[in-house]
Amino acid sequence: PASLEVMMEAWRMPAAAPRTIVEKIYHEEELRRAIAMKQLINYYQPKVALSTGKVVGVEALVRWQHPTDGLVYPDQFIGVAEAHGLINDLTHSVLKQALQDMASWKQMGLEVQVSVNVSMDNLSALDFPDTVSALAASAGIAPTALILEVTESRLMHDLRAPLEILTRLRLKRFGLSIDDFGTGHSSLTQLRDLPFDELKIDRSFVHGAHDMGNIRAIFSASVGLAKELGMKVVAEGVEDAGDWAFLRFTDCDLAQGYHISKPIPASDFVAWVDLYRRRLGT
Ligand code: C2E
Ligand code: MG
Ligand code: MG
Ligand code: MG
Repeated sequence: PASLEVMMEAWRMPAAAPRTIVEKIYHEEELRRAIAMKQLINYYQPKVALSTGKVVGVEALVRWQHPTDGLVYPDQFIGVAEAHGLINDLTHSVLKQALQDMASWKQMGLEVQVSVNVSMDNLSALDFPDTVSALAASAGIAPTALILEVTESRLMHDLRAPLEILTRLRLKRFGLSIDDFGTGHSSLTQLRDLPFDELKIDRSFVHGAHDMGNIRAIFSASVGLAKELGMKVVAEGVEDAGDWAFLRFTDCDLAQGYHISKPIPASDFVAWVDLYRRRLGT
């Protein structure tokens, strides 16, 4: 029905990007206080299966609910957190909220996987796997329901300490995903030797792939590679119906992007799934 479409549209990308033109860089002290005062909140972007259209998971994307500047996006403060030793606290906050939200969705009968972005700095703390385990256990969430995403370009720099931690996380049965694949130039050998079970193809090789042969070539090669290595494949940046239609004829498993939904607050997610299912007719 038309009214359903109108409501779904509100959860898609607004006509103008929500970002400010001049991006302010925040001071470490202000960010430290913000973390302590719980001003960082998780938004969630749905991930859907291409074969069935079903919602299988969400990615947690942090935002700063700034008392005077409004909603501040992660590109404006993740770097600050990494540079000033605040990233462990930040990741802890995102993980804790994600697990709490999963637990409350589960109570409402909605079981989905949640992906959380982790920084390379998190992967140099040897107690990180035990910390994640303890957080998941106390929320009553199985490790297989939590996926940790690491950006490809950062991963390939110095692999030794991270590899140890990634292996421990994998042994504990957490999901591991390579984010923004295609922008980081990893070698085939590195990919084969890393314990990842999901690969997310960067949006620069997804949006528009259907009518640009050179982009499509990289996209298809990446999907083929991931499938050969037994990994699940997610296309990010699915922005329009053309992207979606193209993906349905590929071996890609999951799609994420503004065409499906923009990232939304936790409190909107159950209502979003409800409307999405009604539109799908399931
Ligand atoms: P990412 O992990 O690759 O997340 C996807 C980004 O693309 C998100 O931006 C999302 O809002 C945006 N996006 C989703 N669909 C589309 C689409 O169809 N088209 C376009 N053009 N963009 C789309 P966001 O939320 O601003 O996050 C930016 C980056 O910040 C993330 O990229 C991730 O690397 C980092 N980040 C976000 N949350 C966290 C976090 O909790 N911890 C850490 N360490 N990094 C985070
Ligand atoms: Mg990500
Ligand atoms: Mg990404
Ligand atoms: Mg990214």
